[in-house]
Amino acid sequence: MTLAEKIIVKQVIVTLDMEGVLTPEIWIAVAEKTGIADLRKTTRDEPNYDKLMQGRLAILDQHGLKLSDIQKVIATLELLPGARAFMDSLRAQVQVIILSDTFEQFAAPFMRQLGMPTLLCHTLVVENDRIVNYKLRLPDQKREAVAAFKKLNYRVIAAGDSFNDTSMLKEADAGFLFHAPENIKAQFPQFVAVDEFDDLFGLISNAIHHVTETTT
Ligand SMILES: [Mg+2]
Repeated sequence: MTLAEKIIVKQVIVTLDMEGVLTPEIWIAVAEKTGIADLRKTTRDEPNYDKLMQGRLAILDQHGLKLSDIQKVIATLELLPGARAFMDSLRAQVQVIILSDTFEQFAAPFMRQLGMPTLLCHTLVVENDRIVNYKLRLPDQKREAVAAFKKLNYRVIAAGDSFNDTSMLKEADAGFLFHAPENIKAQFPQFVAVDEFDDLFGLISNAIHHVTETTT
């Protein structure tokens, strides 16, 4: 073993989905708070994401809702019970990065409540407080981020709740489903699924020891 090989150690990064894992689903919460039922539509109702988003933006326009209105609604939302304590315990042990398909302008109030962890997500195009469009930072960004961290010689442990997390879970060295609906659990039985923060914390802690012991 050369000196370079001896001094190179793999470190661990944990990547977490945001909505459904640490926070409520933003669009559903906005639909409830504003009483605009059409905003409840998700990718399960409209699988074409661009169509879904353009529809949402049109609804916001119809109701004269601006970015600041949505942000005010989001600011009233609370993290899922236990989320802050879970994040604090986890971040005391390991670097944690939130990988979300939300937009930075929506996520800001939640990030403040979570103690400002690092967030990688998309962005809204805003003109005079009106949301005119959205921009994906990168297609399949959750999986791409995990692949990039692995290239930087990190072991990655990931957790998420839905379809848009499964490519990230597959790419990671260890992947867990958290708060996942039954159909996702059934379709992806290869991922251990839990619903309590204590259980997820235990799984991640074990995985940290496991992935750092098994070097390749
Ligand atoms: Mg989610």
